[in-house]
Amino acid sequence: MKRKLNFYAGPSTLPVPVLEEIQREIVDYKGHGLSIIETSHRSKEYDAVHHEAIANIRELLEVPENYYILLLGGGASLQFGMLPLNLLHFAGEDACADYVVSGSWAKKAFGDAKKLGTANAVFDGKEQNYMTLPSASEIKPSPGSRYLHITSNETIGGLQFQDWPDTGEVPLVADMSSDIMSRGIPVDRFGVIYAGAQKNLGPAGVTVVIIRKDIAEAAPEHLPDYLSYRVHAEKDSLFNTPPVFSVYALNLVLRYLKQHGGVAPLEEAARQKADLLYQAIEESNGFYRCPVDEQYRSRMNVVFRIADESLEPVFLEEAAKHDMVGLKGHRSVGGLRASIYNAMPISGVEALATLMRSFASRRS
Ligand SMILES: *Cc1c(COP(=O)(O)O)cnc(C)c1O
Repeated sequence: MKRKLNFYAGPSTLPVPVLEEIQREIVDYKGHGLSIIETSHRSKEYDAVHHEAIANIRELLEVPENYYILLLGGGASLQFGMLPLNLLHFAGEDACADYVVSGSWAKKAFGDAKKLGTANAVFDGKEQNYMTLPSASEIKPSPGSRYLHITSNETIGGLQFQDWPDTGEVPLVADMSSDIMSRGIPVDRFGVIYAGAQKNLGPAGVTVVIIRKDIAEAAPEHLPDYLSYRVHAEKDSLFNTPPVFSVYALNLVLRYLKQHGGVAPLEEAARQKADLLYQAIEESNGFYRCPVDEQYRSRMNVVFRIADESLEPVFLEEAAKHDMVGLKGHRSVGGLRASIYNAMPISGVEALATLMRSFASRRS
């Protein structure tokens, strides 16, 4: 079997041992004579998987007891709407929410909030083409704010928060879809954290929501059940049929991470992998450039350009010949992007850095 080096931004690479375990178990789950995806979500087999996944997230991210961990459908995009529906829409005339508008994903979250209430941009990166972030100390909530939303890692722009704003009594909310479990996080400084699984945690289909209990319990009565954090919390995320395959695979990824020492080694590996690529860019004497403000460069999505942009498709072709896929920048911004999530081995990033160096020396 020849596996390619997968630099896709999402869905993205998964640990091979996890894929192999799925393959072994998919027809006959642990000798029960049926697949886990054919099993009732009320069965004791699925129940064990579901609760183990939640317990593993709690352990790996050191989530305090006063937070619920929910496993929901609808992708991170559903959270763009669910959040303002639960925290803002019914909160009264004077209520508002704050958004750090840092790039493509933040804009989508902000857009949904504006449809449901008053939402302010406490920072807007538009003038700087979304190539920089505010410093943590510059971010201040507005009077009457119900929450302040950040995108911890802008997957398309390649920007990542390096420290967290202090929002006082106003809950800090973060979309961590593309960097969850790549570093330790002080969960108690957040009101809500959410992340679609398909970047760092598993296949698409399940979204992890970590929400302070008092915030979930205060969800308005008027909401349709599925859209209420309180309903999901009361039912342990078994209100309706959960995405059973995605939760099962998520749990295998979490087990794998635990067996390999948890989040701390991933944080170190992310630093090493990102350094390799940013160094290759810096040392290329302007052949490559990274447009992102140096202090906020992402360790998950390394965005870069070739000074002579006509060489970008040539580079992609060469990469493909070396079995490297997914290096094309997002269609909205162009250029090149290497997504180097948890499951990308350092050897894969070394191979890419080597190709970048040899391409630059041949084409300069
Ligand atoms: C991928 C991504 C999303 C969208 O996730 P879906 O699960 O496709 O809805 C939202 N935010 C960020 C930061 C992402 O990287």
